Amino acid sequence: MSKAEVVRKIDVYDNVKPPTCSSGKVINPAEKAVSFFCPNCGVFLIWRCEKDRIQGATYRCPNCGFEGP
Ligand SMILES: [Zn+2]
Ligand SMILES: [Zn+2]
Repeated sequence: MSKAEVVRKIDVYDNVKPPTCSSGKVINPAEKAVSFFCPNCGVFLIWRCEKDRIQGATYRCPNCGFEGP
């Protein structure tokens, strides 16, 4: 099964609890961040900001501890 990263704009931006990427940065609604459910547990919605995607930074699932590119 191939990994599918869906690039999408943030339609609903929650100012109370904004999405944060794996490096702890708050996702700017203007940037092309990606979100996908953890490929291991499928429970936690992981966000990656544009910068992390370009740099290929690793992410970590807070739910199961899965780390991936
Ligand atoms: Zn997980
Ligand atoms: Zn980031």
